Amino acid sequence: MTTNTTFLLETIKFSQDNLHTTLACSKCAEVFQKEFPLALEGLTSQFKCPICGAVGEADLPSKEGEEPEKLQEDLVVAETETEEGESGDQDEV
Ligand SMILES: [Zn+2]
Repeated sequence: MTTNTTFLLETIKFSQDNLHTTLACSKCAEVFQKEFPLALEGLTSQFKCPICGAVGEADLPSKEGEEPEKLQEDLVVAETETEEGESGDQDEV
């Protein structure tokens, strides 16, 4: 029997010692606050819902958040120079 309860992270605050989170239980739909040790940042934590007691998981983001992506700069210089010699002086009598 598997429990697929997940705790949706609504807000997270990083303090010096803890992660202060606000989580919403997917089973009972209640919102509660929970603190995690800083060591759990960036990990998935499994715990019981304090309201309905269901065991579920919550993804805790790391403080760094998103890793900066290196953008590749493609310098494509498209030089289209077309020289057309126009010499169209024709006198027809
Ligand atoms: Zn619950």
